[in-house]
Amino acid sequence: MSRLLSERLRTLEAYVPGEQPQDQRYVKLNTNESPYPPSPGVLAAAAAEAARLNLYSDPELKPLRAALAETYGVTLENICCGNGSDELLYFIFLAYGDAAHGFIFPDLTYGFYPVFCRLNGVPFEEKPLRADFTVDLTDYLDDPRPMVLANPNAPTGIALGLAEIERLAASNPARLVVIDEAYVDFGGESAVGLTRRYDNLIVVGTFSKSRSLAGGRLGFAIADAALIADLETVRYSINPYNVNRMSMAAGVAALRDAAYYEANCRTIARTREDTAARLRALGFEVLPSRANFLFARSDRCSGERLYLELKRRGVLVRHFTKPRIADYVRVTVGSVSDMEQFIRTTEDVFNEER
Ligand code: PMP
Repeated sequence: MSRLLSERLRTLEAYVPGEQPQDQRYVKLNTNESPYPPSPGVLAAAAAEAARLNLYSDPELKPLRAALAETYGVTLENICCGNGSDELLYFIFLAYGDAAHGFIFPDLTYGFYPVFCRLNGVPFEEKPLRADFTVDLTDYLDDPRPMVLANPNAPTGIALGLAEIERLAASNPARLVVIDEAYVDFGGESAVGLTRRYDNLIVVGTFSKSRSLAGGRLGFAIADAALIADLETVRYSINPYNVNRMSMAAGVAALRDAAYYEANCRTIARTREDTAARLRALGFEVLPSRANFLFARSDRCSGERLYLELKRRGVLVRHFTKPRIADYVRVTVGSVSDMEQFIRTTEDVFNEER
């Protein structure tokens, strides 16, 4: 840290992303990317757009917002796009939080929420998940503070139903409810439809997981037009060109190629259930996941040791050090052969532990 850094940022602890090794040595199951490449249509659209990189991107992002509006049954004015959904989350904490308006979210959830709060000087309270890692709705229903829930949650994969999201939105129309649906396409229920009835609800989505565009950095928020106008004010005040040309073209093409991505999601959900069954057969406790990852623990090996031993053998998973979940590893659902290798390598680790 330099002596010139603002007082405000001196104690900030940055978010720690999952490892991104730049060699091909690993079966990479640590950051919930899709194992499947973008569709041919997406590759062609992004390549064609590369020829126009001398020109700024369209700050209004109309073709992308129109395609999203059609996909989700809303209108252009209900959509704001960002450089990954992380950027939209940042906009949301900036727009609706300040020293007097703190946020609430679970103690075990996406690690960026507390970082964005600290960065923006927004206080927050973490509400403990229940012992089975489910959300206790009563923690949230009567609390007037804005809330963020990942649904399905990360790193657990556990999902709330639509009726529960509606209860949260309906219980206090003056309170903001943000639902982060990064993983919804793998088996969750989307709350986008509720944004037409509840003007205090923002749904955040991403192209990073189900649409195979993590490296393209493309996310979106869907909400009532007044909330979107707030987010657009923030976006235009930071970077109106936040979504680059190639990613916008890729996003439009991905929405057009919906059938390809839906088939991939079905395959991933099937692979998830097969992998969970095999882990349980090995004695693992596996949380019920609606996402493209599994959260699992075994009495035979600590979470940290399993992570390290798998890594040594070329399989990368994610381990978190928070005490409540230090026994677990989070494993992205990759291709069928990725998961075969993950299971076989886990068996090797167990056999050598004996
Ligand atoms: N929300 C959750 C719950 C996530 O796990 C992630 C991925 N790390 C994101 C949002 C951000 O995804 P992206 O910025 O790639 O859209």
